[in-house]
Amino acid sequence: MTIRFDDQVVIVTGAGNGLGKSHALAFAERGAKVVINDLGGARDGTGASSEAANAVVEEIKSKGGDAIANGANVTNVEEVEAMVAQAMEAWGRVDVLVNNAGILRDKSFVKGSMDDFQLVLDVHLMGTVYCTRAVWDIMREQNYGRVVVTTSSSGMYGNFGQTNYGSAKMGVLGLMNTLVLEGAKYGIHVNALAPTAGTRMLEDLISDERVMDIMSVESVSAGLLTLCDKDAPNKTILCAGAGGYASTQILETEGIYLPPEDQTPENVRANMNEITSLEGANAPMMGGDQTNKFVAKALAHFGITPPAG
Ligand code: NAD
Repeated sequence: MTIRFDDQVVIVTGAGNGLGKSHALAFAERGAKVVINDLGGARDGTGASSEAANAVVEEIKSKGGDAIANGANVTNVEEVEAMVAQAMEAWGRVDVLVNNAGILRDKSFVKGSMDDFQLVLDVHLMGTVYCTRAVWDIMREQNYGRVVVTTSSSGMYGNFGQTNYGSAKMGVLGLMNTLVLEGAKYGIHVNALAPTAGTRMLEDLISDERVMDIMSVESVSAGLLTLCDKDAPNKTILCAGAGGYASTQILETEGIYLPPEDQTPENVRANMNEITSLEGANAPMMGGDQTNKFVAKALAHFGITPPAG
């Protein structure tokens, strides 16, 4: 079935360039009214300009779509709240929030400054927190909402020189995991996108223009849209790039139980193969699942019947 966003209001942060621009154009093409947020700075977050956001709005309007520009810095709570107020005033609802704005301040851990570390956390993690908090009550009242956080392979698996960025990008997954639980009864789904695309963010890493072309932003936006419509999944980490689509899962192995007399570092090490074996691994629904699993095994060892409920 065709995925459409008619009569829906979508906010895309960092939509003046790269992936955000592509997401915004794709939403508009499929009927959405779109807030084009962008601070308009350089890749490292310096500077600001309304030019990029305005150009995207013009492009959408020239194709018959509906969009408004917004220059909020996602690290500024007041500006973020004003952005959401602007969307509400124009269109009266917010159906989708795509947290996409981002910067880079790459340096090895030993060389990077703590100011840069803080700024990267502020933009990616706190920016996502502020924007999501600003739409959360609206989505709860609507009994409908779709939120996407933008993570990265760099956070999930590591990347030399990106401790700040990687920390922030894992942080948004932690945010997603609990928002999923808190938004469930209000029809709010929260998912994550792990993109890889030939934008200015990758221009130092990939010099071959043919590869940059193949890594199109449009290929990523095709995946992003599936996280945002009414049939969207919940708590899915969708990886997308160059026409490849995959999903990352956070699994816990079944593990082992050691009775008190065997609970020594030596015994834990001796059982490491079984502890880390993926056989029987699963993705816990929430943190408490881990506690319940361990306690159930221990209670069974002691022959104690777990209390009901
Ligand atoms: P980009 O630099 O082309 O676009 C990012 C946009 O965010 C820019 O237009 C910038 O002005 C805007 N922005 C930056 N700070 C802002 C702020 N404080 N407030 C509002 N807007 C701000 O980068 P991109 O490659 O399109 O990246 C988009 C997202 O995807 C980022 O979150 C990035 O970390 C993530 N990502 C990208 C890749 C990739 O391969 N390009 C890989 C993994 C994750």
